[in-house]
Amino acid sequence: MTYDFDPNSIELVAAHLIDGARVFDGEKLPVFRPSDGVETAPIPIADEEIVDRAVTSAHRAFMTAEWRNASPLDRAAVLHRWAALIDENRENIARVEAASTTRPVADLINRDLVRASGALRFFAEWADKIEGKIIAGNNGATSMVRPEPYGVIAGIAPFNFPAINAIWKSAPALAVGNSVVLKPSELTPYSVLVFAELALEAGLPKGVLNVIQGAGPSGSHLVRHPLVKKITFTGSSATGARVMADAAATGTKPVTLELGGKSPQLVLKDVTDMDAVATNVANGFLANSGQVCTAGTRLIVPSSKSEELLERVMEIAAGRKAAPTWKSDCTLPPIISEKQAKRIDNMLAQTLADGAEIICGGGRDASMNSGAYYQPTILRNVPETSTGFRDEFFGPVLSVYEYEDEADGIAMTNHPSYALAASVYTDDFNKAMRLPSQIEAGTVWVNAHGRQPDYATPQGGFNGSGFGKEMGRSGLESFLRFKNVWLQHG
Ligand code: NAD
Repeated sequence: MTYDFDPNSIELVAAHLIDGARVFDGEKLPVFRPSDGVETAPIPIADEEIVDRAVTSAHRAFMTAEWRNASPLDRAAVLHRWAALIDENRENIARVEAASTTRPVADLINRDLVRASGALRFFAEWADKIEGKIIAGNNGATSMVRPEPYGVIAGIAPFNFPAINAIWKSAPALAVGNSVVLKPSELTPYSVLVFAELALEAGLPKGVLNVIQGAGPSGSHLVRHPLVKKITFTGSSATGARVMADAAATGTKPVTLELGGKSPQLVLKDVTDMDAVATNVANGFLANSGQVCTAGTRLIVPSSKSEELLERVMEIAAGRKAAPTWKSDCTLPPIISEKQAKRIDNMLAQTLADGAEIICGGGRDASMNSGAYYQPTILRNVPETSTGFRDEFFGPVLSVYEYEDEADGIAMTNHPSYALAASVYTDDFNKAMRLPSQIEAGTVWVNAHGRQPDYATPQGGFNGSGFGKEMGRSGLESFLRFKNVWLQHG
């Protein structure tokens, strides 16, 4: 099936959405299509005054109680209608997203947008299932523990999965009665506006969901606004630290931080189905051309299996097609920007200068004469002191580490700073049950790599990869605060 389209035929609107209306105020920031570097509609930058208008609108909507005190079933009905509208408009939204991001159109139609409306329905179903507690106190008293929404939530998203991030950051917060101000990445600003306008069409009261556009300073104004009560942030660890500092400086606001990763894929000696492992390993570092927080970028493999596995991984990598995201056969999309591709070039050069060797790839795809496409790249002998070990490439780069003794392989899984995700490949049931407890990571997959299509399991990292969870019940509860109401009686 072909979903090919002409990106020039797609209208890309870059605006804030405040109190239910598009706002174009603000200095302009240029935006470029990652697939061919062509300039698209510039975004207006939210300064302090525009951020204040958006947050004040969200606060007013929260205080006037149209949403927070709506019956949970009514809130659920709006979110369900929103999900239905996303499904009805799936192809249009996919074209907006594919015309302006690194997400291939076929993946958007068959995966991202299906998961976006699925997540929305998952959280809609939770709206009327929030329970508090009653605790019998001593001295003739009873305590009611009431879950309540915070008020205005700031949701700040990265560039890599704009559709999914927009829903993950708003649906659970809205389901339990909060208002939300979303800030998409300045590199991928368009689809969130489409989502937010569909929410209005579904019946979400004006002001309950606002969108502001802009880069770091706009995000910082949002975090620092006194009426913002909680922040949910997804992005790099360095930015996460700045968000936390801003939140601490302006009211010790709670933050959920979904940050970067350097996730290991550990192959044990007992594994027999090497084709399955190779498929997982290849998808693990090539999906979205490595621009995935949980990308499995460190392959830890017994030296006896290394050659065979790498051969198969390289075969799969060679079958990937670098192409613009508006082509249905694109399986190796571009890097988000020229700046990010240069960052990968520099990291790679530094890592090679430190002693690493190239097994395959090692630079831009010379066959593509526009956009920033990167070859699948595999490295060995990456020293632990090198940037290639310490930092995220956020491109299709895999580093291979061989081991003789399994205990050494297991020890290599833990990274000095990142602990987002990990995978282990084994046929041994006992090891499958035992090993995850030895691995420092917020998610451990056994015989798989990558988030599975489900909504109930939580996602989130440890250590330098952040804290707090998204998705699942814990993701929902992170948008609730618990009030103790003490009733003194006889
Ligand atoms: P980034 O940190 O550059 O930007 C993320 C967002 O923060 C953007 O919207 C940006 O405008 C905003 N921002 C920048 N400075 C800010 C500041 N001082 N205050 C407030 N907001 C600010 O990240 P990116 O390059 O867009 O995304 C890639 C990163 O995101 C990678 O590190 C990746 O691992 C991570 N990520 C993590 C997860 C996860 O679930 N753990 C998921 C996706 C991406």
